[in-house]
Amino acid sequence: MDTILSELINNKMDKEWVCLSRFSKEYGNGARNFIRIARSNVGNLDMIVGPCIHCKNVERHHYDVVYEHLVIKGMDPFYTTWVLHGNPSSKTGCLQK
Ligand SMILES: [Zn+2]
Repeated sequence: MDTILSELINNKMDKEWVCLSRFSKEYGNGARNFIRIARSNVGNLDMIVGPCIHCKNVERHHYDVVYEHLVIKGMDPFYTTWVLHGNPSSKTGCLQK
């Protein structure tokens, strides 16, 4: 595990990006970090479960496709704990806004 990755996990990976505009740079960076952590969590497999509004953690795709889905379709707003992607320590807060 590299330093940036362990820092992200120790800092309870910032989840605020899911509430941002999907066209923002911050959202893109957050989604990329999310994919990295999710992949490392499953042993760096290329196929990971898609948490987007369409896949709803049922469909598996290549991580590049999962990233695209996050940007194009958006994260499933009811998936707030990210238990399948390595960071159940805190919840996303978008639904409360
Ligand atoms: Zn998807």
